Amino acid sequence: MNYTIKEIADITHSKFFGNGKTKIKNIAFDSRTIYSAKQTAFLAISTQKNSGQKYIDKVIEKGINTIITENEITNAFVNQIITKNSIEFLQTLARYHFEHSDINSIGITGSNGKTILKEWLYQCLWNEFATVKSPKSFNSQIGLPLSVLQIEKKHELGIFEVGISKPGEMEKQERVFQPKIGLLTHIGSAHSANFSSEEELIREKLKLFQHSEIIFYNGDNLLTESIIRELYPHKNLISYGLESSNRITIISEISNRAEDIQIQYFDEIISLPIFQRDDATLTNVLALVGILKELGISNSDIKEKIDDLKAVEMRLESVEGVRNNLIINDSYNLDLDSLKIAFQFIREYNNPRKSLILTDILDSGENRTALYHEVAELVNEQKFDKIFLIGDEIGSFSALFSPAPSVFSTTSQLIENKALNEIENQIVLLKGARKFKIERIKELLELRKHDTVLEINLNAILHNINFHKSLLKPETKMMAMVKANAYGLGSYEISEFLQLHHIDYLGVAFADEGIELRKKGITTPIIVMNPEQHSYDSIIEYNLEPEIYSLRVLEVFNEQLLKSGNQQKYPIHVKLETGMHRLGFKDFELDELIDRLRVTNVQVTSIFSHLSSADIPEERDFTLQQLKTFDKNSTYLINKLGYKPLRHILNSSGITNYTDYQYDMVRIGIGMIGESSNKLIKNQLQNSVCFKTVVSQISEVKSGESVGYGRGYRTDQDTKIATIPVGYADGIPRMVGNMVGRVGIHKKLYPIVGNVCMDMMMIRVDGANVEEGDPVVLFNSNPTLGEFSNYCKTIAYEVLTSISPRVKRIYIKN
Ligand SMILES: *Cc1c(COP(=O)(O)O)cnc(C)c1O
Repeated sequence: MNYTIKEIADITHSKFFGNGKTKIKNIAFDSRTIYSAKQTAFLAISTQKNSGQKYIDKVIEKGINTIITENEITNAFVNQIITKNSIEFLQTLARYHFEHSDINSIGITGSNGKTILKEWLYQCLWNEFATVKSPKSFNSQIGLPLSVLQIEKKHELGIFEVGISKPGEMEKQERVFQPKIGLLTHIGSAHSANFSSEEELIREKLKLFQHSEIIFYNGDNLLTESIIRELYPHKNLISYGLESSNRITIISEISNRAEDIQIQYFDEIISLPIFQRDDATLTNVLALVGILKELGISNSDIKEKIDDLKAVEMRLESVEGVRNNLIINDSYNLDLDSLKIAFQFIREYNNPRKSLILTDILDSGENRTALYHEVAELVNEQKFDKIFLIGDEIGSFSALFSPAPSVFSTTSQLIENKALNEIENQIVLLKGARKFKIERIKELLELRKHDTVLEINLNAILHNINFHKSLLKPETKMMAMVKANAYGLGSYEISEFLQLHHIDYLGVAFADEGIELRKKGITTPIIVMNPEQHSYDSIIEYNLEPEIYSLRVLEVFNEQLLKSGNQQKYPIHVKLETGMHRLGFKDFELDELIDRLRVTNVQVTSIFSHLSSADIPEERDFTLQQLKTFDKNSTYLINKLGYKPLRHILNSSGITNYTDYQYDMVRIGIGMIGESSNKLIKNQLQNSVCFKTVVSQISEVKSGESVGYGRGYRTDQDTKIATIPVGYADGIPRMVGNMVGRVGIHKKLYPIVGNVCMDMMMIRVDGANVEEGDPVVLFNSNPTLGEFSNYCKTIAYEVLTSISPRVKRIYIKN
C-alpha cells in the first residue's frame, strides 16, 4: 500500500490530526516487530485480551510518527487518525485496496490444510506470476486485511487464506477480499465450539465464495457436496478427493510404492511421483493439481513443480530421538480428525512398538463423555505400548484407555517424572493442544546431533537494519548483500527474512547464488555483482539483474539477450570505477558506453560504484575523491541517457561515515550482522551471530605432561583441560592455538592450548567449575566476533565466511 494520511482518513471515514500529506506504506500492530518506523503507522488494536493503546508510547519512542487509535492521545508531535473501531478500520482500508487492485486471486478456507496449500501454491506459482500471499498463517480478522494490504501494482496473483472462529465473521472477511478462485479444504471438527453444527460451519465458510467464478472443494465430505450445490448451482464447482465420485481423484493403487500416483483430472490422467502418501497429503495434492490446471499450467510443469515441493513445513514433524526413538510431533492442533490423520501417518512406518502422549482436547463443541469415549476407542485400536495422558479432563477418563495410561496434570509433571526415559526403539507420537506446550517434550526426546552450531538471531539483524535505516532519508532504498551464503549465515534464510521485511534489493556475487534463491521462492530483485559469461542465459531465465562493468560484458550480455528472444528492455546495473581498481567503467570509456547503451536492449536500472576505505578515517580525503568522481561521472551518464537510473555507492561503513552520499540506495552487508569499525556505531548494534559448542570431555593433566599433536602444550603444573568438538575443519584457523585465542565458558575467557586439531581443540580451564556438556562460546558477546577476528589476525568477514558448511545454522526469532 502507499497512501497519504488524508487518503486513509477519507477511505475509512476517520478524522485525522497532523500532516495529511505524510505517506504511509506499512501498518504495524505489534510493537515488538516494527521493522521500520519510516512511513509506518501504528494501529492500536483493542481486543478483549489486550489493548494496543498501552504500546503507543513505546512505538513513538521507536520513531513511529503516525498513530491510528480509537482514543485521541495528547502528543502534539505525532499524526493521529482517529477511528471508531480499529479492526473495522483495517478491514475497510484493505477492502478499498483490494477493490482498486487488479489481480487474479485465490481464497483458501477450511479447517485443515489452508496454510500448507497456500505455501504449496505459492511455491508452484511464484515464477509464473508476480505473486503475493498471506505471510505465515495470517488469516484472522486482522491477519487477512494486513495480508491484502501487501498487494502492490506489480502483483498479478494473490493467494490468501481466510479463517473464522465464530458465526458472522466470514461476511466481514468476504467484504475485504473476494477471491476469483475459491478453495474449500477439509472440514473437520476443529474450532467448532462456536458453531452449533457442522452444517452451520460449512455454510459460514462457503460465504467466502459468493463472488467467486470457480470453486474447488473437498468432495469427500457429503455434507459439503450437498450444501455447495444448493448454494451455488450456477457456479463452476469442481470437487476433489479420494472418493471416486470426485472430478479430481486418484485411480492408482496408493499402497504400491513402486508406482507413481495416477490422478484423474476430468478425462485426463496425470502421473506424479509422490512419496508421502497419507490421506491428508494426497488430498491436498489433488486440490493443488486442480488449481494449477485452472491457471493453465501444463501437465509436465505440474509434475516438475510438485517434484520440487520441499521445505514446506509439514504439520506432522518427525525427528530422530534419543534411544533410537522416532518422534512424531503434532502440537499444532488437536481434534478428532487430526488425531485420525496422525494415527494413519504413524501406521505408514510399520513399527509395531509405539507410544502416545496425548493431552486434553480443547475447543470442541462435542459432549465431553462421548468425545473421550470415541478418542479412547480410536487410541486402543492402535495398540500402543505406553500411553501418557496430560490434563485433568482426559485424566478423568483414563479408565477407558488400554494399556492403562500414566496420567499427569501438566506437561512439566511428565517431564519431571522421568517415565519417558524408559522408552526405546519406538515411534513416539506427541499430540497436544497448543496450550500444553508439549513441544517441550520433543526437545527433551530429540537426539541432538549438533553440539556445534552457528546461531543466528534474526531479530538482531532486523534491529541492525533499522538502525542503519534510521540514519537515512525515508525514501532511500536499501540493498542487502547476501553474497557468499549471506556472509556465511545462510543465504536463503536471511533473504527470506529480509524479503518478508520488504528489503528493496538483494545482492549476490555469482549467478548460482541468485538462482538458488529464485528456486526457493525469493522474488525480490537480485543483482549479480560478478556475472560470469557462461551464466548469462540463466541470469535471464531466472530474472536476475547483472552488474555490467565493461564494454565487453555489455556486448556479450546483449548478444545473449537477443538469443533469448527477450522483448523488453532488460534491467542492468552499471558499475563505475572510481578508485578501487577492481571492476568498472573508467572516465574515458563513458562516451562509448553511452553509444552502445543506445543501441542495446537494456535499461540501466542503476549506476553505482564501491568505496575502498569508507571504514578508515585516515583515508577520508581519498574517499571524498571517490565520491566526487562518482558524482561527476554518474551525472554525466544520466544527462546523456535521458532517464534517471538509481544511484548508489555506500556500503555499511559508508552509511555511517558518509551518510550525505546516500543518493537513492545504499548497500548494507557487515552492518546488518552487527559489526562496525566505529565504536559509537558498534555500541548501537546487536550481535546477531553466536558460534557455540559444548565440552566433550574434561581431563586432569599432571605437571610435565603434554597436550595435543606435536606435544604443542607442556604443562608446568597440574592442569584441567576441556576438549571441545570444533577444529580447523569447522573454520577455526589453526593459528589461534597455542594460547593465541580464547573461548568463553560461563562468561569467562579460557585459553586454547596446544595445536588446533581438525575436529577438536583443547582449552585450559584450571580452577574453574567446568563440566562435560557445558556450553562453550567461540564468539558472541565474550569473546566478540571482533575479538575472535583479532585472534585470527583477520577481519570479521573472513571469519564468518570461513565457517564450514558442516556447522549447523540455527535461526532464532524472539
Ligand atoms: C560486499 C559488498 C557490499 C557490502 O559491504 P559491507 O562492508 O559488508 O557493508 C557493498 N557493495 C558491494 C559492491 C559489495 O560487494
